[in-house]
Amino acid sequence: MLTLDQVKSKSAARLDGLHPVLLAVTNELIQRSYAKGVPILITQGMRTIAEQNALYAQGRSKPGPIVTNARGGTSYHNYGLAVDFALLLPDGNAVSWDINRDGEKDKTADWSEVVEEAKKLGFEWGGDWTSFKDYPHLQMTFGLSIDELRAGKHPSAQQINEVLSRLSGGDDKGNKDLKVTITLNGQKLTEGVVDEGITYVPVRILAEALGATVTYDPGSKTVDIVFLNK
Ligand SMILES: [Zn+2]
Repeated sequence: MLTLDQVKSKSAARLDGLHPVLLAVTNELIQRSYAKGVPILITQGMRTIAEQNALYAQGRSKPGPIVTNARGGTSYHNYGLAVDFALLLPDGNAVSWDINRDGEKDKTADWSEVVEEAKKLGFEWGGDWTSFKDYPHLQMTFGLSIDELRAGKHPSAQQINEVLSRLSGGDDKGNKDLKVTITLNGQKLTEGVVDEGITYVPVRILAEALGATVTYDPGSKTVDIVFLNK
């Protein structure tokens, strides 16, 4: 029997570059699936646009089966907002993409058990898509379209907190260190998220409260903060 730490360590490298919220929620999913007797492996997380284009070419200009309908820049993976999973088999190395497998013999397909937990956490499942079913795929869009993400939009602190509140332990355990309230001269301004010592705060809210204006140039991916009176 694999320990939870062993299961988690298998996926650790694939979690690099994920949005901090996805990182927290994906770890939670690994944990919850494990608790149900279904160890999973995260096989894909953040994917660069070049990697996405290479994947899109597969089954089109390159050999192999078609595995995605998304060109570079058009997948939530490209923004660290999606993960793909597979079932991790008891030997701790082999994986299975068999959506009907029932490894722990509880008469419920392991795959469905994972998907059920993922949906409770707020993930959208690629297996629910009508045009192209992507069974390993889980994404969190925060209501943002790909165009909006491309233009540099981010999930709001409120949306982030909503997702984090679904994690086990609620406010008093796991995610306590993740949520912070930002005050300006003692007045509540907004909420932020702390991940590995870095505080993520909506820059526009903070900058405008400090008397600056904020513009974003998607071309150079630059946020410009301008103080008009200084
Ligand atoms: Zn995917």
